Amino acid sequence: MKTVLLPGGERVPALGQGTWMIGERRDQRAAEIAALRTGVELGMTLIDTAEMYGEGAAETLVSEALGPMRETLFLVSKAYPQNASRKRLPLACEASLKRLGTDRIDLYLLHWRGSVPLGETVEAMEALKRAGKIRHWGVSNLDTDDMEELVAVGGDACTTDQILYNLTRRGPEHDLLPWLQDHRMPIMAYSPVEQGRLLGHPALIDGAQRMDATPAQVALAWTMQQQGVIAIPKAGTVEHVRENRAAADLELPDAVIAALDAAFPRPRERRPLEML
Ligand code: NAP
Repeated sequence: MKTVLLPGGERVPALGQGTWMIGERRDQRAAEIAALRTGVELGMTLIDTAEMYGEGAAETLVSEALGPMRETLFLVSKAYPQNASRKRLPLACEASLKRLGTDRIDLYLLHWRGSVPLGETVEAMEALKRAGKIRHWGVSNLDTDDMEELVAVGGDACTTDQILYNLTRRGPEHDLLPWLQDHRMPIMAYSPVEQGRLLGHPALIDGAQRMDATPAQVALAWTMQQQGVIAIPKAGTVEHVRENRAAADLELPDAVIAALDAAFPRPRERRPLEML
């Protein structure tokens, strides 16, 4: 499995598994558990979840599906902005740990920026790290100016910025991606297949046909070809997980990359970071 280097020197898979909307429907539970387990067996050991997803239901399902595989996992979870204070972050973290059935979260993220000052969140994250409750911390949905501010208030130990990034959301390439690459912070690309909406695009279908691959595989391979990008698609079936896993081994030919660039042009000017 292709890997991405974290600032501390650790390597994580470039392809992980998302869990938004997982654990919310009883009739899909067995399929979701099988999908997550298959993904881990195939090397997609980075699992992205959040206290927000199903108000804890996704974290609980991750524990049920992957508890026995804990030692092989790199668990990422996220705290609501209103929980990112000195007082509330330890409580939110403890609740996530309990639902996840583990004693530490590998990477704990601020889900998006709220009213708690970034400096206070940094302090709270560092305290959790010292207490051994989390191994690394990072942020999500922070644009370049927020990242500048984060570093200025002492947040240079930030491990990642998890952002909306795919062929239809190339805005970050203008300044956020270069900023993160300059600061050696990997990017976690969420909604890498635009929640499925991207898959019927003619340019993607054409690229897939040329490569004997599927549109999802081309979309994921495109995301992961950028330096320091981790893609975290969510898949609710074993078939989709297997299909997505193969994308990590796919090399996009220059002609396909050029055709995708023509259909989904790079941004020419700065655009505010979008979020879902
Ligand atoms: P996504 O991964 O782009 O898309 C998920 C959708 O695509 C599901 O409907 C899934 O269907 C379908 N899909 C997956 N693989 C497929 C394949 N090979 N062929 C056809 N369809 C396929 O969207 P997402 O769930 O929004 O984003 C991924 C993860 O990023 C989330 O689960 C979450 O962990 C994270 N996220 C973070 C934030 C944030 O603010 N930090 C925001 C959004 C998402 P099935 O379920 O039927 O397989």
